[in-house]
Amino acid sequence: TSSVRVGIVGYGNLGRGVEAAIAKNPDMQLVGIYTRRDPAQLKPLHAGTPVYAMDSLLSHKGQVDVLILCGGSKDDLPKQAPELAAHFNLIDSFDTHARIPEHFANVDKAAQGGQTTALISAGWDPGMFSINRVMGESLLPDGATYTFWGKGLSQGHSDAIRRVEGVAGGVQYTIPVEEAVNKVRSGVRPELSTREKHKRECHVVLKDGADAEAVRKTIVEMPHYFDEYDTTVNFISAEELARDHATMPHGGFVIRSGNTSAENKQVIEYRLQLDSNPEFTSSVLVAYARAVHRMAQTGQHGCKTVFDVAPGLLSPKSAADLRAQML
Ligand code: NDP
Repeated sequence: TSSVRVGIVGYGNLGRGVEAAIAKNPDMQLVGIYTRRDPAQLKPLHAGTPVYAMDSLLSHKGQVDVLILCGGSKDDLPKQAPELAAHFNLIDSFDTHARIPEHFANVDKAAQGGQTTALISAGWDPGMFSINRVMGESLLPDGATYTFWGKGLSQGHSDAIRRVEGVAGGVQYTIPVEEAVNKVRSGVRPELSTREKHKRECHVVLKDGADAEAVRKTIVEMPHYFDEYDTTVNFISAEELARDHATMPHGGFVIRSGNTSAENKQVIEYRLQLDSNPEFTSSVLVAYARAVHRMAQTGQHGCKTVFDVAPGLLSPKSAADLRAQML
């Protein structure tokens, strides 16, 4: 058969999303979930999905075409991706932008050694947004590129507010400033400061007896996280937090505006509006896992990024069908 046999490494938000995405792709087959925790304690979405201990992964080498790594960028992927690329074709969603060159070098060394294909930093940013930044810049060399994020829940900023003294719980949304987006869309190529591009909105549950004004001040003045932004802090109840802020929406736009002559402006826009950041990211990973399998089959080994993958390789359709139906 031509189905692609996939293993999920790590079962958090992304791991669950990959399990759901594979069910929507009939040519992809889930071999199992591999976890560092006790497999008996995990509850997969589908009762029939096998869950294995990480220790057994190497002995399943012949049964897996591609691993989808769903660990965290901070501590898991820098270790797991190079170790596993020595033995398996794989894909990850490594999103620490500043450390991508270093991660690439480590994974490339392992993949060259093992003659495997390993694609890093897939997802939406990095991932689909990166592709659109490259396209915009290449098609309109005389221009400017803008990335706006949101409205979306930022995990890192939510963690930061939860560490403030007096805070029992909370979430943070990043929101593009509408005036800035409109200016960019008009093609005038504005220069925008950090504060002009995004604002931050916090919803915070206070501990009993906490000083609301002191909490607000600590949040809005927090260096790196909030001090360069206009930040609003709303105080809500624990019930409201659970009822209204339990999902992980996100999205944003990549806009390139440029001039092809003195008279003519051109504007390109790519937009994502996501109810669930992890479920969308996982859908991207599954499509790219298909491409990784095909690239491995044709001997394109080493570390790759989304820039190296031809769009047709993402589709389950044949090249002939794509020419007939999509061009
Ligand atoms: P999670 O924190 O949910 O999961 C990360 C790992 O932690 C899992 O693989 C799992 O490994 C372990 N884990 C999960 N739940 C638990 C638990 N209850 N107790 C103990 N360990 C647990 O992270 P996400 O899935 O939300 O995100 C993973 C990464 O994806 C992020 O770090 C981010 O960098 C990246 N990402 C990239 C995007 C992009 O566009 N490129 C977009 C969104 C996210 P194990 O099963 O082995 O214990």
